[in-house]
Amino acid sequence: MASASLFDELYREVILDHSRNPKNRGRLAAPTRTAEGMNPVCGDEVILDLTFDRECLSCLAFDGQGCAISQASASLMTERLTGVSRGEAREVCLAVRSMLVQGGEPAAILGDLEALHGVAKFPVRVKCAMLAWTLLEGILEPEEYSPGGRSS
Ligand code: ZN
Repeated sequence: MASASLFDELYREVILDHSRNPKNRGRLAAPTRTAEGMNPVCGDEVILDLTFDRECLSCLAFDGQGCAISQASASLMTERLTGVSRGEAREVCLAVRSMLVQGGEPAAILGDLEALHGVAKFPVRVKCAMLAWTLLEGILEPEEYSPGGRSS
């Protein structure tokens, strides 16, 4: 098992790579849902577009500006969640929130999103990393569902 500092180094590389070369950056032509938000503490802005194909998140894209962590978190999200079911996206959302906000260990379902684990040590930066996820939580459920209702 490698040392903690080596893991920190690897995480930093993933975050820098995604902030410099973001995936799925831009707007979708006809998104099913859109959410827009900001983190005034840091000046981060994210716009999230999402297209559903039945229960599947067929396309995700984000636009915005801000610090490396806010933009890398959104980029990692679009990469991890494109093509997954609504149920899996919900599980990944919960796992991200657990890791970043509740101090939990990273779950296997996170994949590359585990790179954000180091952010949990810095509460001010957690707001940066959570911006895109908070937006997603707001548009993940069908509009007729009440928030918090879990069917799977
Ligand atoms: Zn930020």
